[in-house]
This record gives sequence, structure tokens and C-alpha cells, in this order.
Amino acid sequence: MRFEQKRALVTGAASGIGAATVDRLRAEGATVVGVDIAPAEGVDYCDVTDQASIDGAMAAAVEQLGGLDICVNVAGVNTFAKFEELSVETLETHLAVNLVGPMLVTQAALPHLRASKGNVVTVASISGLQGQPYNSAYCASKGGLLLFMRSIAIELASDGIRVNCVCPGGVDTPLSAGAAASLPPDADFDLFARMNGVIPGFMPPAHVAGAIAYLASDDAASVTGSSLVVDRGTLW
Ligand code: NAD
Repeated sequence: MRFEQKRALVTGAASGIGAATVDRLRAEGATVVGVDIAPAEGVDYCDVTDQASIDGAMAAAVEQLGGLDICVNVAGVNTFAKFEELSVETLETHLAVNLVGPMLVTQAALPHLRASKGNVVTVASISGLQGQPYNSAYCASKGGLLLFMRSIAIELASDGIRVNCVCPGGVDTPLSAGAAASLPPDADFDLFARMNGVIPGFMPPAHVAGAIAYLASDDAASVTGSSLVVDRGTLW
């Protein structure tokens, strides 16, 4: 029960890692508002690419919760494409949802986190730490996200706000299934060898939620600016 009396906002809460994170934080005592662009029971609407939508959702969440201790950025998208065939629209969508979205949500959360000396946990990816075939837009968005979060970890430390990222490898969710379905028909699968972990298979979303809960908890009181890799032994 590490989150008794704690109040959390989770984006991307309708599915996968976000839904598992809402469950995990609640199981440990937190009061949680989940938001998403997709409808789901008990999840409020928020489009993380839209400033007005973020402002409205943040105001409603803070009013409902009576403040905010934990902001978890999970919402994201991923479609594969060969770089030479990558459209500007696909590139811009990846940057808007995966990079600018967490920046805007974190900015909106800031006054409330300053008041509570709270923390931010953001789901980046090992795609922010390694180049991957047919995934240049996604890798660029996640690499930028990691350095954005590391930068604000420095700026916000004096306010008592911690900022951390989780970098998952393959997770069994609709996002990874959709990404696989978007691979070019003539994809060279030999190029994916470097993405295999030593523990086979995709992990369940709950394994990432556990890492998020650790970083959001007082167990991680001395951890900020970190990129916690949870990847079944892919990168080392
Ligand atoms: P998911 O598809 O199950 O969940 C992503 C959620 O984000 C969806 O509910 C979707 O509606 C929401 N979303 C998309 N655009 C949004 C927007 N504009 N505003 C608000 N919500 C929006 O996928 P997941 O695997 O749980 O992904 C969660 C996060 O984990 C993403 O940031 C993803 O990049 C990251 N991640 C996933 C994997 C993986 O293998 N699944 C690996 C590493 C990192």
C-alpha cells in the first residue's frame, strides 16, 4: 500500500500499459484518474495532442482528486514504415503523441506537483535507446522524450519533483500487435535480431506497471532522471 493518500493521473488509461498502471496504483491505495482519447469505462477523455483538451482534463482531475502527487505519461502510438516511405503525417503524429504530448501534460501537471512535491513517470521505450528497423519516427519520438525528461529532472529537482522514465522492450498490447501488422510486406526480418531479449516473448503490461509503481513510490526517493530498462534482456 505505497500509495495511500496519493493522487495520480494516468494517460493512455484505456488499454495496455496504461490500464495496468491504473490497476496497480489503485491496488496499492492510490486514487487515480485515467484519461485517454479512446472511450473506456471509468476513463475520462483527453487528447494529449490538444492543449485545450489537456487543460480541461487536468483541471477536472485535480478537482476530483483534490490535488496531484503522480503524473504518469503512457499514451502513445507506433506504426512501422520504411524511412524512404515515411509520410510527413505519420512522422508528425508520432512526434505529437509520443513527444509533445507528454511535454504538454507534464507542463499542465507542474503547478500541482510543485504543491505536493510529487513526481512524473513517463513510458518511453528501448526504441529511445537503440535504432530499430522501419521504426525511425517512433525511435526519434522516444529518444527525444528521454532527453526531455532528463532535462526537466534537472530543472525540477530543487522543487522536490522527481522525473523518471521506463523503457520497455516488447509488451503484449494492441500497440505492438498493430505495429507488427504495419510492417512493410518485404520487411527484412534479419534486421530485427538485435531486438530479441534473452527472456523470450513479449512481457505482460503488468510487468511495466510494476516498474512504473516503483519509480512513482517513495522506494525511488533517490531516483530522478533515470531511464529504467524493462526489456527481457535486450540491451546491455
Ligand atoms: P496501447 O495501444 O494498449 O495503449 C496506448 C493508449 O494510448 C491507447 O489506449 C490509445 O487510445 C492512447 N492514445 C493514443 N493516442 C492518444 C492521444 N492523442 N491522447 C490520449 N491517448 C492516446 O499500447 P501500450 O503498448 O500500452 O502503449 C503504452 C505506451 O507504452 C506507449 O507510449 C508506447 O509507446 C509504450 N511502449 C509500448 C511497448 C510495447 O511493446 N507495447 C514497448 C515500449 C514502449
